[in-house]
Parts: sequence; structure tokens; C-alpha cells
Amino acid sequence: MIPRRALRNLALFRFPAVLLAMGVMLVVTIGNISAIADGLGMHLFNSARYEEATRMEMELSDLLVKAHRFSYGDRDITRADVNLALDIFWSRVNVVATANYQRALREADIEDAKVAVEIKERLGDYEAAIQKLAPGERTSIRPLLSLIREFQTRVNDMSSDAYSARRFQMQKMIEQELASLASLKSMQSEFAALVGVLVLFVIVELVISRRVNVRLKRAVADKEALLVTDGLTGIGNRRGFETDLSSRPPLSEFSLLLVDLDGFKDVNDTMGHPAGDALLRHVATALAENALPLGGVVARLGGDEFAVLLKGSRHRALDYAEAALADISRPISVEGKTIQVTASIGVAHSSDARDATPFVETLMKHADLALYAAKADGRNCARFTTDDMIADNARKRCLGKDLAKAIADGDLDAAFQPIVSMKEGQTLSVETLVRWSHPRFGAIPAPEIVQAAEGADLILPMTLLMLDRACLLRERLSVSNDAPRMAVNLSPALLSMPDLAKAIVDVLAKRGCPSESVILELTEDAAMSLSEQVMDNLEALRSAGLRLAVDDFGTGYSNLSRLAALEFAQIKIDKSLIRRISVCDRTYEIVRHVSRMAHDLGMEVVGEGVETESDRALLMGLGVPLGQGYHFARPMSDLSLMAWLGERREGQASARLLAG
Ligand code: C2E
Ligand code: CA
Ligand code: CA
Repeated sequence: MIPRRALRNLALFRFPAVLLAMGVMLVVTIGNISAIADGLGMHLFNSARYEEATRMEMELSDLLVKAHRFSYGDRDITRADVNLALDIFWSRVNVVATANYQRALREADIEDAKVAVEIKERLGDYEAAIQKLAPGERTSIRPLLSLIREFQTRVNDMSSDAYSARRFQMQKMIEQELASLASLKSMQSEFAALVGVLVLFVIVELVISRRVNVRLKRAVADKEALLVTDGLTGIGNRRGFETDLSSRPPLSEFSLLLVDLDGFKDVNDTMGHPAGDALLRHVATALAENALPLGGVVARLGGDEFAVLLKGSRHRALDYAEAALADISRPISVEGKTIQVTASIGVAHSSDARDATPFVETLMKHADLALYAAKADGRNCARFTTDDMIADNARKRCLGKDLAKAIADGDLDAAFQPIVSMKEGQTLSVETLVRWSHPRFGAIPAPEIVQAAEGADLILPMTLLMLDRACLLRERLSVSNDAPRMAVNLSPALLSMPDLAKAIVDVLAKRGCPSESVILELTEDAAMSLSEQVMDNLEALRSAGLRLAVDDFGTGYSNLSRLAALEFAQIKIDKSLIRRISVCDRTYEIVRHVSRMAHDLGMEVVGEGVETESDRALLMGLGVPLGQGYHFARPMSDLSLMAWLGERREGQASARLLAG
């Protein structure tokens, strides 16, 4: 087994090592080849030199023979033959005497061939000696003979020199060839070694890549498992759930359940995260153990939200939900403390014989609507999605979408309802209420408009529009001295916006509306918020001179000392409380005390929802001086309100006249 570290090192060096080995082998091979080539070149040169020397020697002796035969009287040989032999000899001498040949000899360090140059200089003597030859006269050859003898030895030497050089060279070449053969052999073994190295390299590569592949596959599998598993609970996560849904065969009938813990945040906040984690594991176990026998899929989508996919009927889903809820609500013990929570479940059921995947998103939304309903129905229960929920949701989304345009186009209206002094009948202020006639759904109830505006992030522009309408109306009414103050509702969501006070002050400035003439109505719970942003906003609004009122008093949680500290100018007692006065003594007492306390703190008290004369009388008897309700006037358009105020003024004037 090759150790892992050695493999890793090998992996680092193997490429350079193989390249180096190949480079060395190439250099050695090139050296061998050029040595062989050098030997061959020398041998060719010596062969040529030997040939030239022997030819010269041969032609010289041919000349001698022919001269002898001519001088002996041989009739077959003429003087022309002798001359021709001289010519042939001469042409050999010429070749050897050429500058190129001489240079080549010099370069090879051979100087002896100067003899050819010297012979060449004696051409005239040779020719003269041949002219002196006389047929049959043996002695006539002597001049030629002495000439030839002068050079013959040197020509012979030259030839034998070349011969030995060639031999020597041949010998050297044979040796060299033997050496080359050895080189070739070593080249062969080098190539064999190279092939060996390459084969080894390939084997190492294969081993490494196999190991890498195995580890890579394992890592990918681990990562994939991690990606689809919830680390805390060990069940699937959102991604795993979605992947599971998309990869399973089509289900004919199934339910998607969304499970959300009730009050999980409180457990986390009060008992710490370890307790929260233990609780989430407990819920995951409860959901999974009930789903397992039914072949269901369970996942934690995030936070305290879980999802379950169950095949089968609604009935089956309901049975499962009830069993799971019962198990979830069992107390568990964490670090010696007992925790108990409940959950709410929303169920979307599909009996469509189609693949679950395209519906997942829709089903999730539907289940979410049902979950919302379960929460609204008091929690610790399961609710199925209904057609009404879906239609309501569609309407909500539609309203949210259309509201922006309605605000921009000025299609959003304001209605105005007077708040009167129940004794004298004067109108002290006018509340501005939003109105919208939707092209498809008709008149939309005010709370629904507000909800849509909050959902679509339009609550600020909507409120500023209402404020603007209120300021406009106030401007029209200010021709008379006793123009009423204008009240505008502020939704709780607004109080958390950092730029609220400035936006409101800007509208007032634009319309030239004095801030003391504007009352901002805040619901009880919003007014009680201790958040820093809410406090800052309330302070900024109050110091800009605006009056604040507590709206719907009696429906939420109130802290009377805080009411006093925040210097609210007005308390509006909610109509639900007013309704109960006549039937509930306790409520009667509460209202009586609240109105006295408000009076003592210098706050105005308004009774809302005054519908009858007896409501009015009852409230007045309780010390509530101001009233708002159908008994005095319904919310109305600006023009109607102006007319209404005009009539009242006239009525009051004539009453005063009559009384006077
Ligand atoms: P609210 O601020 O308590 O407004 C008074 C509501 O009581 C109005 O309902 C009004 O029409 C209704 N009302 C007045 N007199 C009587 C009566 O004698 N009997 C009964 N049963 N009801 C009476 P509306 O206009 O439907 O508004 C409902 C709620 O919507 C308002 O309650 C307020 O919380 C909210 N809202 C209305 N306009 C706005 C707005 O511009 N901004 C914000 N944030 N909320 C608004
Ligand atoms: Ca109000
Ligand atoms: Ca109210």
C-alpha cells in the first residue's frame, strides 16, 4: 500500500520529473547522433582524397607506359596517344591543384598535395619532353623520364598517404560505428526506460485518480446528504423536502401539512436556545414517528415551521394531525425544567391525479392560509384550506396590487364623521376615515383597506393622503371661526417608521394647516408600545404641536400612568365598551372611573358608537362629555359634512334665538 502522503508528494512532482527524464534522454541521443554524423563526414572526405591521389598516380604511370612504348617503336601508340595520356594525367593534376581542393586539404591539415601545384607549373616541360620522343629511339624518353621521376615518388607518397589516412579513418569509423552501435543500444535502453517511466507514470496517475474519484464521490454524497438534512433535528430540510417532492412518482391524493409551534419564541426567549433546540427535536420526533407508518415525508422548513407530506384522504390527514398535536403537546423535560407547547397545523389537500411538484408552491400557500386560520381559531388545532380562504387571499393580493394605483390616481376617498359635545351639540372635531370603491369588489371596508395598505407597504402614502384630505377640508371650513379640529388615524405599523413625524409635518406645512388643529388617533396597544422608535415618533409628533388620542380604549391593554406620561390629549372609549355599559355594572364602573381620571389628567373623553339617545344619556351620566356615532352623524363626504355643519349652525342659532 502506498502511503497517502507519498502519493500526494508524487502527485506534486510527477509532471516535472517525467519532463526532466525525457529532456536528459533527448540530449544524450542528440550527442550520439552528431558523433556518428561527424565520423561519416570524415570518412567521405578521405575516400575522395584517396581516389584523386590514386587516379593521379595511375594516369602518371599510364603516361610513362605509353611514352616507353612510343619510344620503343610500338606502332600501336602514336604521339597523339602520348599527348592524350598527358592530358588525362593533367586533368587529374588540375583537380587536385584547384583552390577548393587545396583549401579542403589544408582544413584537414594535409599539406603534401602541394606536389600537384608544382607539377602544374611544369606543364611546358612535360609537353617539350613528349615532343622530344622519337619512335624507335629509346633514349629519347630520358628527358620525360627524369621529369616523371622528379615527381613520381611524391605522387606515390601522396597516394599511399591518402590510402593510409583512409584506412585509419575506416578503422576509426569502424570503431566509431561500434561505439555508435553501443550508443544506439543505450538509446534503445533509454527509450525502454522512458517507456517504463511513462508506464509507471500512467499507473501512478490511474491509482491517484481512482483514489481521488472514490474520495470525491464520498465527499459529494456527504455534501448532498448535508444539503438536504436539517442539522438540528436530523429530518429533511426545506431543500430536501422540495427535492423529495419533485423526485417522487405522481400521487393521486395527498395532503400537505404546515406545522407551526405556538409561542415558540417565548420558550426561546425565556428558557434559552438549548431549551428551544430540545423542543424542536421533540416536535420533529413527534411528527416523524406519526408519519413513518403512513409513508409520509417530514421536514423542518426553518425556525419552528415544519412540513409533512401524506398520501391519502383528508380523513387520514386529520387523524395524523390530531395524533401529532397530541404528541407535540406532551411535556418534555430539559435541564430539570418542564416545557410544554402546542402547535397549529394548516392542511392543504389535493385529490388531483397529477404530479405533486407543480402544485407544491400553491399547496404551500394554501396550507399557510389554513395555518393562519388555525392560529386565528385559538391555536393547538388543525384547519383545512377552504375555498373562502383562497378567495379572501386572492382578494387581498388583488387589493394590495390595485391600491398603489388608487392612491396615485386619487381614487381613494375620505369620509368625515363629526365628534360632538353631547351637551351643547357643537362639533369639536371631525374624524377622517378611509373609503375605497374598488372597480371589481365595490366598497371595501376600511379595516381591509388598511390591512391591504400595510401588506403592500403603502400605509404611509395612504395615511398622508388622508391627512392631506383632512387639511383641505379644514381649510374650507376655516372661514368660520369655530372650525373643528381634524382627526386622522395612525396604524400601529406607521409608528415604527423612522421618517413618520417629518412626513406628517411636511403635509401640514404644504397645506398651511396649524398642527394644534390635528389629532392623531392611535390604537391603545400601539400607544403603549415601549419600542424606542415608537417613543421617538410620539415625542417628535407631540413636540411638533400635534395632539394625540388613544383610540378604541378598552379593547387592548392600557397602562394608565403611561397614558398620563405621554400627555395624550384625548381618550376614545371603544364602542364595544359603550355597548356593555347598559348591561354590565363592572363596565359601567370602569368607564366612570376612566372618564373621571381622564378629566383629572386634563384629557378629553369621547364615547364612540353612540347610536341612540339612551346611549347619549347614559354616557353623559357617566361624565363623558363628547360623543361620536350614528346618533349624531354617519361618516360622510366633505361636501355633505360642510352642509351638515351649516345646517347645525343655523339650527343652533335659531334655537339660541328662540331661547333668547
Ligand atoms: P375607528 O378609528 O374606531 O373609526 C370609527 C369606526 O366606527 C368607523 O368605521 C365608523 O364608521 C364606525 N362608527 C362610527 N359611528 C358608529 C356607530 O354609531 N356605530 C357603529 N357600529 N360604528 C360606528 P370605519 O370607517 O369602517 O372604520 C373602521 C376602522 O378602520 C376605524 O375604526 C379605524 O381603526 C380604521 N380606519 C379607518 N380609516 C382609517 C385610516 O385612514 N387610517 C387608519 N390607520 N385606520 C383607519
Ligand atoms: Ca379612530
Ligand atoms: Ca375607535
